[in-house]
Amino acid sequence: MSSPHVVAVPYPLQGHVIPLLELSQRLVQRGFRITFVNTEFNHTRVMNALEEKHAIGDQIRLVTLPDGVEEGEDRNDIGTLTEATLRVMPGKLEKLIEDINREDGDNVSCIIADVNMGWGVEVAENMKIKGVIFWPPAAGLMAMSFSVPKLIDDGIIEKDGTPVKKQMIQLAPGMPTFNSDFFVWHGIGGLTTQKIIINLMLRNNEYMKKAEFLISNSTFDLEPAAFKLVPQLLPIGPLLASSRLGNSAGYFWPEDSTCLKWLDQQQPQSVIYAAFGSYTVFDQSQFQELALGLELTNRPFLWVVRPGITDDANEAYPEGFQERVAVRGQMVGWAPQQKVLSHPSVACFMSHCGWNSTMEGVSNGVPFLCWPYLGDQFLNESYICDVWKVGLKLNKNESGIITREEIKNKVDQVLCDESYKERVLKLQEKTMDSVREGGQSNKNFKNFLDWIKA
Ligand code: UDP
Repeated sequence: MSSPHVVAVPYPLQGHVIPLLELSQRLVQRGFRITFVNTEFNHTRVMNALEEKHAIGDQIRLVTLPDGVEEGEDRNDIGTLTEATLRVMPGKLEKLIEDINREDGDNVSCIIADVNMGWGVEVAENMKIKGVIFWPPAAGLMAMSFSVPKLIDDGIIEKDGTPVKKQMIQLAPGMPTFNSDFFVWHGIGGLTTQKIIINLMLRNNEYMKKAEFLISNSTFDLEPAAFKLVPQLLPIGPLLASSRLGNSAGYFWPEDSTCLKWLDQQQPQSVIYAAFGSYTVFDQSQFQELALGLELTNRPFLWVVRPGITDDANEAYPEGFQERVAVRGQMVGWAPQQKVLSHPSVACFMSHCGWNSTMEGVSNGVPFLCWPYLGDQFLNESYICDVWKVGLKLNKNESGIITREEIKNKVDQVLCDESYKERVLKLQEKTMDSVREGGQSNKNFKNFLDWIKA
């Protein structure tokens, strides 16, 4: 029998493309053939950012579909993007697979769809092939998603997702605790976006019930309480490129790897790595305060200043900042983050707490300073600070600003109190054990492979 041919469909955001592409590369290592479906818009970005040395393996065929976003619509608006993909992509995906089957004779036997493209399991059902949902965030978020109807019934949120009152939320003992203002659907955009996200979650819940396999980029030991609530979700993470002895791929921005050489010149355990993922945007005053905070720490730092992180970053730096920090500060547009976090010079990770970043920090035993921005990042912050106790929260002042003094104080605290490092090293060990031979994620992955091949 020829090796299975899998079509992988990520949600068109950076934090979804990277882990699904990593999973795809693993499948390729096991002899699978992969067709990876980026949106046209993202494909152009990935190809522009791609360097020769990081070429995506020959066995992965990169194809594109339109995302359905029309002229005049804002692709950065999650609500617009979600509705557009749902309107256009299911029909196009079915047609794409029919064409592949007809033209190549290389029949597709399975679709792995990101949960936000959960309609992929319906396409699989129609085409009588296997349907899998890939869940990139924390398992705790899936538990939250399935609890939406109960939160409505219990009067904790309105039908449209608006919290009825401000209160602390914890789904079960051992789970993260967070303020109801930070429900994942609340605060990403206006009410219209909130309604779209709540509806998306309810729809996803139904797709997840239909999927034959649900896999996630987590490990059982990181989230035992959540996996008890959603036992159908099988963790296969952490999905790190280093476990495959490869490079992370699918970046939307060209990576600047000169920072690795710079890290080589720094003292072990000395550098603050500050990076806020692909989506966070700072207003100018917060951006400046962050710059001054990094300066005030008087420690070396590597700061990812992604294009678009604030209005024209070159103009936005405080006066004289770049000159003053030239010797001990590095700013890059996009770092090879997984490699940075595994570098011995890195002492702590100032992060927006996206789930990929969270997994990457934990897997490399790096303590956190948490600066969540939106969505599930508050849930992840609570895992880091309240449940695992491997980092500290950066708190806003009365004006809603994280001040330079707060930054300096928390950096000093997390680095001077050795218990953070001790705990994160223990967590790292448990987490990495799970992907070693005999570990839970490793077993789940093998079972998953056997099932696709069957
Ligand atoms: N990332 C990177 N270089 C950077 C910043 C981020 O490679 O300079 C990667 C990071 O390793 C992670 C992903 O981008 O895999 C961001 O995903 P995450 O879930 O942390 O945040 P999001 O971008 O979805 O908010």
